[in-house]
Amino acid sequence: MQVGRSVGGRTPGRRWSLNMVLVVICAAWQSTAVLAAGHRTANFVVDAPTETLARRIGDAAEQYRHDLAIEWTGSPLPRWSRPCPIQAQVAPNLGAGGATSFVFDNGEVFNWTMTIQGSEQRILDSVLPHEITHTVFATHFRRPLPRWADEGACTTVEHPVERARQHRLLIEFLTTGRGIAFPQMFAMREYPTDVLPLYSQGYSLARYLIERGGRHKYVAFVGDGLAADDWSSALAKHYGVGGVPQLQHQWLEWVKLGCPAPPAALAAAPVPSTDWSRTSRGQSPDPVPAPPVVATPVSTTAGRRSIYASQARRPSEPGSSQPVR
Ligand SMILES: [Zn+2]
Repeated sequence: MQVGRSVGGRTPGRRWSLNMVLVVICAAWQSTAVLAAGHRTANFVVDAPTETLARRIGDAAEQYRHDLAIEWTGSPLPRWSRPCPIQAQVAPNLGAGGATSFVFDNGEVFNWTMTIQGSEQRILDSVLPHEITHTVFATHFRRPLPRWADEGACTTVEHPVERARQHRLLIEFLTTGRGIAFPQMFAMREYPTDVLPLYSQGYSLARYLIERGGRHKYVAFVGDGLAADDWSSALAKHYGVGGVPQLQHQWLEWVKLGCPAPPAALAAAPVPSTDWSRTSRGQSPDPVPAPPVVATPVSTTAGRRSIYASQARRPSEPGSSQPVR
C-alpha cells in the first residue's frame, strides 16, 4: 500500500481526540473504470463493474470480516449499524490498492467508506483482506493506531507475493539510508513523507512479533501500548524485550540473518487454518538473501534519522511509475 495519510482535524466544539476522521489510503487512485452494478450484504454495499464481481467482493468482504476478526481478536465483530460502502474498480492491469475511511467519536467508529482497485485476483487475495483488517482494528481499538502497527499488521494478511515484495523493498531501504529508527517509528501517528519504508518496515516488525506470539498477543500488545502510551512496558510484558531500542536491535539482527523462523519455544501456537496465517507465520524465510552489507546503526533517537548509515547512492524510487500498495 503506497500512499497513506490521515485526515484528522478539529470539529468545532469538540476535542480532536473525540472526533477524528481517519483515512487510510493504500494506493494511488487512478482508474476511470465505470462502476456499474451493486450488491448488498449484511455489512457492505458493493459497487463494481459487474454484478458477478460485486457479489464476489461482497461475499469475500463478509467472510474476511468474520474470519479476520476472529484471527486477530478471538471473536467476530458485531454487525455495523450501517453498511460500509465499497467502490471497486476492477481491471486486469489496474494497479492494486485501496483506501478506507471512518470516523471515531466518543469511543465509537462509524461512517465507513472503502475504495479498492486492482485485478480481481489481487483485490480478493490482498487488497480486500488488508482493508478489512483496518476496519477490524478500528472497531476493536476505537482509536487510531501507530501507523507502523496498523499498516504492518494489515500487510501480513496479503498474498505471499505482495509480502515478499515488501521484504525486498525493506532490504533496499535499510541499505540505502531510508530505514526509520524505532523510537521515531513508534511515535508516528501520521504517515511520513517517505512513506514506503514505513510499510515495509512496519510489515517486517509486525511479522517478527506475530511469529513470536501470534496475532492475539500482537493485538494485546498494541492495546496495552496504546492505553498507557508506554511501548517499552508493553514490549516487556508481552515479548520480554527491554525497550524499543532493544527491539530494534533484535529485529535488525533477525533481518540480517534472513528472517529465520523463531525457535520452537518462542514460536506462535500453530492455530491458523486460513491462508494468510499459514503463510505469514514464517516457517520458512522469505526467499530473498540477507542484506549484503549492513552498516552500523547510527541512531535510535530524534529526527528523521536512518537506522543505517547510507552506504550507497539512492536508487530510483521503486515502482514510482505505477501504483503500489
Ligand atoms: Zn493500509
